[in-house]
Amino acid sequence: MVLTQNCYKENQMKKFKILTFIIVLFLLSNVCKKSYPTFDPDDFSFYTPPQEKTPFPLVDPRPVKNVILMIGDGMGFINIVVTRTVVLGAQGRLTIERLPVTGAIDNYDATKFVSGSAATGTSLATGYKTIENMISMLPDGTPALTILEAAQEKGMSTGLVATSTITHATPAAFAAHVPYRYNELEIAVQLLESKINVLFGGGRALFKSGISGYKLKRTDGRDLVEEAWKADYVYVETRDELMRLNAENDRVLGLFNDGYLINEYPEPTLAEMTDAALEILSQNETGFFLMVEASQIDWGAEDNDIIYTIKEQLHFDLAIRSAIRFAMDDEDTLVVVTADHATGGMFISVGPPNQLGKINIQWGTNRHNGNAVPVFAYGPHAERFMGWYDNTEIPKKIANILGIPDFPRKITSKLN
Ligand SMILES: [Zn+2]
Repeated sequence: MVLTQNCYKENQMKKFKILTFIIVLFLLSNVCKKSYPTFDPDDFSFYTPPQEKTPFPLVDPRPVKNVILMIGDGMGFINIVVTRTVVLGAQGRLTIERLPVTGAIDNYDATKFVSGSAATGTSLATGYKTIENMISMLPDGTPALTILEAAQEKGMSTGLVATSTITHATPAAFAAHVPYRYNELEIAVQLLESKINVLFGGGRALFKSGISGYKLKRTDGRDLVEEAWKADYVYVETRDELMRLNAENDRVLGLFNDGYLINEYPEPTLAEMTDAALEILSQNETGFFLMVEASQIDWGAEDNDIIYTIKEQLHFDLAIRSAIRFAMDDEDTLVVVTADHATGGMFISVGPPNQLGKINIQWGTNRHNGNAVPVFAYGPHAERFMGWYDNTEIPKKIANILGIPDFPRKITSKLN
């Protein structure tokens, strides 16, 4: 009896020790995960804060001539809160937060709740759900018309701007139709054939033959830059060349890196590419459709790198400011800002709201997550983007506002 009692006590003691050990481990691992963003103010010195915090005004409904769709790849609601809190303090406001209309979209795909840029980009571009890695095709391989192609049918000018390779999943989803997103060499051919007026981003290795510096290389002997010249494109490679363009150039291919952009001179910034694209596209009296993507918010979050994520968010904010400035001036332009999915599952666990940089940011994952993502809108009919809906509604709403009938629509052959 006594022995048993002792054994029982010993067992209890053992359990207690193990439990304590586990708790200590858990607490330690949490302490290790905690990271106050130690940033050098120079990291963000390229960013000038907005002069005001008030929302931009609502605009009376009138026919929309131009649409600028801006996508923060991997940008969840929390990216905006973290960026604002670290850079401006909790009571500041980024440009993106000043857009007068806000909404939210779900972003699951045809088979998975948590998806990737190909399937979610397809939904934003075509109004259909598809499966992971597919670019603007239905799960059975049928190509779907994109909102950019529908705008072309209407006689509008079109443009794609990104900080990744221009053949990356998000921009590709607006003008290419391939079953596998990583076939960027084929996507480059399709982008060129699609006769988009403005293509700005990275990816020289996908267009010119024999260039290394990216995971893929053109080995089919084709030089798409030369083919672009023959198809009346002006080709630019640096910020300075971009700045020398004038509005008479109505077809421009700008490839500013062999692979993705590094956001440093001699490359143009995302805002500079946006400004240049707007200048070129706005020459068309029938209007334009422009998609601008801050591609690397996602990559910063996949690296769980707070500074990288914030910097890309700030570059996006400056590009949004360019778009809003244009839209305020023009009055017939609708600006819609959203994301394809969220990445990283960042959260703020503790911190005083008003001390810059003194918030504790933790990461839930280094992958995508299924959280709903934000929508912001400015311009005529912006209020149609209020509320909570599915990502497939975005291009349908744009088509409706532009008076494009019969959207979404399947296509049987690639349009020219
Ligand atoms: Zn993405």
